[in-house]
Parts: sequence; C-alpha cells; structure tokens
Amino acid sequence: MKLLKDRILKDGKSFDGGILKVDSFINHQMDPILMKSIGVEFVRKFGNLPINKIITIEASGIAPAIMLGYLLELPVVFVKKAVPKTMVNMVSTIAHSFTKDKDYTICVSKDFLNPNDKVVFIDDFLANGNAAIGIYNLIKEAGAELYGMGFIIEKSFQDGGQRLRELGIHVESLAKIKELGDNKIIFED
Ligand code: 5GP
Repeated sequence: MKLLKDRILKDGKSFDGGILKVDSFINHQMDPILMKSIGVEFVRKFGNLPINKIITIEASGIAPAIMLGYLLELPVVFVKKAVPKTMVNMVSTIAHSFTKDKDYTICVSKDFLNPNDKVVFIDDFLANGNAAIGIYNLIKEAGAELYGMGFIIEKSFQDGGQRLRELGIHVESLAKIKELGDNKIIFED
C-alpha cells in the first residue's frame, strides 16, 4: 500500500533492534484519513469472505478494525488484555507481549465470540506473532471460525508471518518491512 509506505518513510522512526515507532499516526496520535484508506485496503483483501464479525485486540488494533467494520457494516469485537471483574461468561488464554516482554491473559466474552462467528482478525503490527497466536488460540477456544488475519505493518525479518502461514492462516499485511535499523527502513517489493 503505497500511501502507507510513504507515510512510514516520512513519519516513522526506526531504531536499532528492529523497532519502528509510528506513534504520530497509528499508535498514539492517529490519522483517521490514513486509517480510512487502510480500512478500504482491508476490504479489498477480505471483503469477499463470508464473515460476520471483525476481531481485534486493544488498543492499537481498534482503529483499523473499526474502519473495516464500518465499511463492511459488521460488528467489531476487541479482545481485552486484562480480565474485567464484571466478565463472567468468557474465554481466555495466555499471550506473550513483544513490547513489554511478559505474559498476560487475553479474554473475550462468549456473548461476542462463539461458534456462530466467522471472523477476520485485524492488528497494527505483526512481529513474532505471539499476540496473533494468542488470538488464534482464543478463537479456537471460543469455537469461532477464523477466515484471515490482517496487519497494517508486518516486520518480515521476524518470524510471526511464517508461523501464522504455517498454521494455514490467510495473512495479509499492508506494508512488509524486511530490514529495520537506526534510521533505515527497507520494504519488501
Ligand atoms: P508480536 O506478538 O507479533 O511479536 O507483536 C505484536 C505486537 O507487538 C503488536 O500488536 C504491537 O503492539 C507490538 N509491536 C511489535 N513490534 C513493534 C514495533 O516495531 N513497533 C511498535 N510500535 N509496536 C510493535
């Protein structure tokens, strides 16, 4: 997606260790116009699938997921990263955080994810794939059906994409970065 790649080159900040900061337009301040274009691109990738719901995880997945849900006129459910005291009828699993380097519980109410659901999962980044594999397990646990996973940015020098594709998941990423270093961002073709 050219618009996205151009924006990453213009406003993204890359660091040694393979970290990309995009907090001026995705992760902290958000650009709704770009988000809408991201939603349109995800419609191109997933719009023909027989899904009834979009799934994401708080917090940074919510914006692109809601754009896709808006365009497809489908509900959007966000998986929670902490178990709310008020949630009783839920499924949960353990996921590992890349940015915080620790394990945490993710959960979702069975009212909103259950065997009636056919879903696409949307998130901001795909790195090692731990968050996405947590979601994959959660969707299985809930008895729902996963039709695909879409990411705004995939860091293809990390193995998340390969892990998900080996599980047979239909993965779509709007910008794939093959190399990240101090002030260096190189996309796949
Ligand atoms: P994974 O579980 O695939 O290793 O990492 C996924 C999550 O880690 C993403 O949802 C995102 O929040 C965070 N993440 C991974 N790599 C980066 C990065 O380079 N920059 C930012 N801003 N977040 C990242």
